[in-house]
Amino acid sequence: MAYPLSHPEIRDAVTRLCQDFPGRYWQDCDAAQSYPEDFVKALTAGGYLAALIPEEHGGLGLPLSAGAAILEEIHRSGGNAAACHAQMYTMGTVLRHGSDAQKAKYLPGIASGDLRLQAFGVTEPVSGTDTTALRTTARKDGDRYIVNGQKIWISRAAHSDLLLLLARTTPRDQVAKRTDGLSVFLVDMREIPDDQLTIRPIRTMMNHATTELFFTDMEIPASSLVGEEGKGFRYILGGMNAERVLISAECIGDAKWFIETATGYACEREVFQRPIGQNQGVQFPIARAYAQMRAAELMVTRAAEMFEAGDTPGEEANLAKLLSADASWAAAEACLQTHGGFGFAAEYDVERKFREARLYQVAPISTNMVLSFVAEHVLGMPRSY
Ligand SMILES: Cc1cc2nc3c(=O)[nH]c(=O)nc-3n(C[C@H](O)[C@H](O)[C@H](O)COP(=O)(O)OP(=O)(O)OC[C@H]3O[C@@H](n4cnc5c(N)ncnc54)[C@H](O)[C@@H]3O)c2cc1C
Repeated sequence: MAYPLSHPEIRDAVTRLCQDFPGRYWQDCDAAQSYPEDFVKALTAGGYLAALIPEEHGGLGLPLSAGAAILEEIHRSGGNAAACHAQMYTMGTVLRHGSDAQKAKYLPGIASGDLRLQAFGVTEPVSGTDTTALRTTARKDGDRYIVNGQKIWISRAAHSDLLLLLARTTPRDQVAKRTDGLSVFLVDMREIPDDQLTIRPIRTMMNHATTELFFTDMEIPASSLVGEEGKGFRYILGGMNAERVLISAECIGDAKWFIETATGYACEREVFQRPIGQNQGVQFPIARAYAQMRAAELMVTRAAEMFEAGDTPGEEANLAKLLSADASWAAAEACLQTHGGFGFAAEYDVERKFREARLYQVAPISTNMVLSFVAEHVLGMPRSY
């Protein structure tokens, strides 16, 4: 696809790295439901997971668009960055609101790859999308907090040293606004005894290393608190635009992979003595997905530009997520259909990528929640929840 893209050198380098991890590698991880450890190690060694960490803390100090380029190319190459992408966006909360001591203690290790900050603990089984109703509590007790509760869908917790945790520090009925009284903690899981923190894997339709967490009187030092007590919800929201842009880039990468793969197969597969791609019924869904992808890509680029200029691209980042997730899903559907029966065979990678691409309609934010944001905050309609 010959149009100029940001950070061409980074894209080339990531594409080369991904060539060492072909479809067969991802198929094997998928079949065994194993964590793609070698891929994550290679990405870390290349410095890519430290792309957004400032140079003063040992990272590359690159802008958001560079992080987006890295994630997009991983997905465009047929891989999946879900094994490690959280480090790019969770780390922003530590950077913006963490103390100098927290940054000095953790960021150089994260940048070098000695430490992993891959787990982000927000979602709970009862509260679900209604984050401010979460029930996990952190009670101050001298120089410690005592954490009790449960989280669900906390990805990569079993492969991370650190967990960015959102918990309630003041009961909901004692705060003026339901968004108050929540706090963020940077939990060093290496220091927690097994009887205080249980990590239970959840088997899912794709290989995602996601887990349930159970906190039983889990003691963490008071110095784990990030920023001010009670302001955690705002801190997490403040990182959402960057997260949306990065996740959108993955969707764009997926869409490109599906479109390239579908196009290649449509030109090569002959039925009725001619390539199937000669039939407009095969061409049009692929061409439509391409149009959707290009439009979504413009919105991702716009959101990243605004973020880098210091603006708050709430509308653009949400639209980018909506449009890119829809584009990748349209491309997935077109690619699977183009492959006919072979689309269902694991060795073609289409069915794996198809399962992986479906997630973006639900997580990290569901399509309905993006539409609610647009309806309420962009179009000015009444709040629905
Ligand atoms: C594989 C995977 C990995 C994940 N990783 C993480 C992670 O690392 N950390 C983390 O904290 N979370 C993670 N999540 C959680 C994810 O963010 C949530 O699943 C998602 O936000 C939806 O929440 P829920 O599953 O509780 O759905 P629910 O809140 O139960 O909602 C169910 C459905 O109803 C819709 N709905 C709910 N309320 C409304 C409303 N008011 N208006 C319209 N529609 C509504 C939702 O859009 C959704 O489609 C992950 C989830 C998955 C599946």
